[in-house]
Amino acid sequence: MDHTVLSENLVQSIQRVVGPASTSSPISLHEPNFQGTNAFAYVNECLNSGWVSTAGKWVREFERSLETATGAAHAIAVSNGTVALRLALHLVGVRPGDEVIIPPISFVATANAVSHLNAIPHFVDIDPSTLGMSPLALADRFNELAVKTSDGLINRDTGRRISAVVAVHVLGHPADVFHLRVLSDEWGVPLIEDAAEALGSRIRGVHCGLFGHMGTLSFNGNKILTTGGGGALLTNDPIFASKARHLSTTAKLPHPWDFHHDSIAWNDRLPNLNAALGCAQLEDLNRRLSLKRRIAENYASVFSNFNGVEFLLEPSDCKSNYWLSSIRFTSQDPNVAKDQKLSLLHNAHQSGLLLRPLWQPLNLLPMYCKCPSSSLPNCIDQASRIVSLPSSPQLSDDW
Ligand SMILES: *Cc1c(COP(=O)(O)O)cnc(C)c1O
Repeated sequence: MDHTVLSENLVQSIQRVVGPASTSSPISLHEPNFQGTNAFAYVNECLNSGWVSTAGKWVREFERSLETATGAAHAIAVSNGTVALRLALHLVGVRPGDEVIIPPISFVATANAVSHLNAIPHFVDIDPSTLGMSPLALADRFNELAVKTSDGLINRDTGRRISAVVAVHVLGHPADVFHLRVLSDEWGVPLIEDAAEALGSRIRGVHCGLFGHMGTLSFNGNKILTTGGGGALLTNDPIFASKARHLSTTAKLPHPWDFHHDSIAWNDRLPNLNAALGCAQLEDLNRRLSLKRRIAENYASVFSNFNGVEFLLEPSDCKSNYWLSSIRFTSQDPNVAKDQKLSLLHNAHQSGLLLRPLWQPLNLLPMYCKCPSSSLPNCIDQASRIVSLPSSPQLSDDW
């Protein structure tokens, strides 16, 4: 089929799920919405109290609700998802000059958090069935160049310490963190889960972010729950939790009036005002998750017999939050798939459907193109084939 005809058919099929779009009333990928929640009341109450900043009842309330929603023993709210990752990496022992293994298919923040600690991203390929880091590729990479020493795991090629692995749950679909954790334990390297996109996603009933030593969430405006800007760390380890609280609040020792700080630390805490917004949406999380699942099911049925395209389904044994419903071009020829993808993006944007491709692989960005890397055939191939579709819960008929 001609690429233009294919993309016109795709645009029509997408509109069968999300309704009509036009350039004057476009449909975005994921938009915040506070209607039908207590957001207005809680934010108002917070404003009236005067406690809008880094102290106040909403922050702890938000953390408790996150603990309930995820099953994490501890949730620590911070100012965004990038900061959450940077803090988690610091806590598990990443130091300047270390390498941190990450997948190249992620939002740039994953690599940036590593760089903010003056550590170096080291890329390992993904598994096309989850879009997350491949346990097989990680095992190969460890076998190829990692040496266990009294100073930790050393990269034989660079002489640098490999001090953490970060798994990313891409588009809300769980990565195989069960097997990644087995490997990380075997090699003695801590595992962090970037679950920024995965609030509500589970593997055999266990929430994403709880398989590694720490997990991180983001509450940026485009995520499933937003606090305007915000993030959180999840952990079952009480020591990591108390250190995270301490280092995210300038390492101040509690005292009625004295300013004593016992280490160099950050001001990373989520403001009370933002936490109030988060509390209101967490009350509505399960409803939003089921609306998003409904949208995903509608896309799945529209694309079930569609030549050249497949809908991305949650991995087996997993429940995805379907943060961004996405399709994959299935042509054997990667160049054809890439042209079809570009044609769809052009066509859709002209029709007011603001579709987005998967990110450019991080190893191709100018600041990360010289980082150590395994071969990345799956990463390059998948990035050329995948397009995300409008997925806001308010697009569902039942909103
Ligand atoms: C959104 C996102 C982040 C960063 O979160 P911010 O709150 O924007 O700092 C990190 N990783 C992934 C995979 C994300 O999607």
